[in-house]
Amino acid sequence: MTNFKDKVVWITGASSGIGEALTMAFAKEGAKLVLTARRREELERVKQQTALPDPDVLVLPLDVTQFELAKPAAEQVIAHFGRIDIMVHNAGVSQRSYIDDTDLEVYQSLMNVNFFSTVALTKAVLPHMMAQQSGHFIVMSSVAGKIGTIMRSGYNAAKHALQGFYDSLRAEGYQHNIKVTTICPGYIRTNISLNALNASGDKFGKMDTNQAKGIPADVCAAQILDAVRKDKKEIYIGGFKEVAAIY
Ligand code: NDP
Repeated sequence: MTNFKDKVVWITGASSGIGEALTMAFAKEGAKLVLTARRREELERVKQQTALPDPDVLVLPLDVTQFELAKPAAEQVIAHFGRIDIMVHNAGVSQRSYIDDTDLEVYQSLMNVNFFSTVALTKAVLPHMMAQQSGHFIVMSSVAGKIGTIMRSGYNAAKHALQGFYDSLRAEGYQHNIKVTTICPGYIRTNISLNALNASGDKFGKMDTNQAKGIPADVCAAQILDAVRKDKKEIYIGGFKEVAAIY
């Protein structure tokens, strides 16, 4: 896909960080946008920031772990725009706790938000893309989808699950012209560590030093658009070797 003008792009986790930066990057290209996250007021703020005409941006607040809402949400997008060209699975929550301390429920939450939510949304969007005989999924995995790291066992497990599931979708989607680009960032400067879950599922609430030194979210977003333009299967951002070396 070389041109994003008038493409319908649905971004989860659009209320902050990388999702907000992706929204701005696609807006500059003249895409039509669907913005999803839990916080409506933040989505409205991001919508204003795009300066796109009102009908070109649909604010669609949704807790992505409410799987039963995925299909009605997809139908709402189709009713508004008539198609879905790009689905960006970006909503995510990290973890800062050791395995021996961490409650089982925390693992379930991390799998729900980082993995199962994308399965529910993919299953809701896929029939529309198959009818179109075109579509592109952008999947925010991580270096944590490739290696194990301390204090992130559940997050790593969910990101590894994304890798396997979306490799399968790439294989199955091929005959319907449905593509998948998996993104594996290292450290990007966002609030992800503040929002990470601790051993009992509360917010970790501290800015990770490496996170604070990470690359800016708009630089990350530009690299993602470039990868989609070039139909890349998978990219690393922020240096796999540099991040892997920290652990
Ligand atoms: P942020 O914490 O800034 O953003 C997370 C986004 O996810 C927010 O918009 C949040 O919105 C949304 N979100 C969280 N839970 C839910 C939910 N239940 N339902 C709907 N939306 C939800 O972090 P980043 O921007 O850094 O993270 C974006 C993605 O990038 C994640 O998948 C993350 O794993 C991945 N990533 C980030 C890296 C980094 O260094 N920053 C490195 C590697 C991967 P709201 O609170 O309004 O619901």
